[in-house]
Amino acid sequence: MIKAETIAEVRAQVRAWKQQGLTVGLVPTMGYLHEGHASLVDRAVAQCDRVVVSDFVNPTQFGPGEDLEAYPRDFDRDCALLEAHGCHLVFHPSVEEMYAPGAATYVEIQSEMPRQLCGQTRPIHFRGVCTVVSKLFHIVTPDKAFFGQKDAQQLAIIRRMVRDLSYGIEIVGCPIVREEDGLAKSSRNTYLNPQERQAALVLSQAVALGQKMAQEGETDAEKIVGAMRAHIEKEPLARIDYVSAVDGETMEPVREMKGLVLVAMAVYIGKTRLIDNFEVGREAV
Ligand code: AMP
Repeated sequence: MIKAETIAEVRAQVRAWKQQGLTVGLVPTMGYLHEGHASLVDRAVAQCDRVVVSDFVNPTQFGPGEDLEAYPRDFDRDCALLEAHGCHLVFHPSVEEMYAPGAATYVEIQSEMPRQLCGQTRPIHFRGVCTVVSKLFHIVTPDKAFFGQKDAQQLAIIRRMVRDLSYGIEIVGCPIVREEDGLAKSSRNTYLNPQERQAALVLSQAVALGQKMAQEGETDAEKIVGAMRAHIEKEPLARIDYVSAVDGETMEPVREMKGLVLVAMAVYIGKTRLIDNFEVGREAV
């Protein structure tokens, strides 16, 4: 596995691969990798000749007072996981390599999409995500890029950005990978103490509850969201940021479970903000 720290190294390697007629897949990550990330790499290895994983804690997607400095990092461990899963190149740039001094250009979707859900409390988050993913697309020029359904709003936003800016890159969404007890795998789970780790199960329990109600034919989105909120509120260590049902493409709130609906939540467990979600109606789209 090649370890590249500069944009020039990545460009040169990708150029060489493309000259050989090989296809390239990209998996953007912020590192501290777990089986959720590994599932994206596996997908990419299955679908592309060469796989690039970026491992970069992107400062532009963190707001003031968020966990940029505390965000866990372990590049050596990440490399071991990536090698084991068949990644060909890991791109691990410094902040200075990605953002030259005075960098002032951003990619931002000008609609409600990045303002809903996580955007309500993280107003600059998706501008940072779109900017860094856009840069990675220019650097790697992949045929396909792989993103997790765990960050459902991010996935929808990237799809929109790719469409609006004609990137010509296929975006592949991959299912949420969970711990055995249901908790969605996340680099941030490492912040949880044992008591909080137990309390964090309310997220996946609420997902299961909402999914069951939808499967059993409940069409009132507010009833589903209400039942999920009530379940989470029973846990003293949990504080709801949001639980919402939105259109799966536009992220606009919906009242009825009709078409593609995303039911998503962000919940603080102690000081740690965790997210989870489920979708209904994807098969109909
Ligand atoms: P992150 O390193 O948290 O920015 O995540 C990088 C990519 O991995 C994103 O596309 C995430 O949606 C995806 N991802 C993170 N956790 C999971 C998970 N538990 N299951 C599936 N994909 C995940």
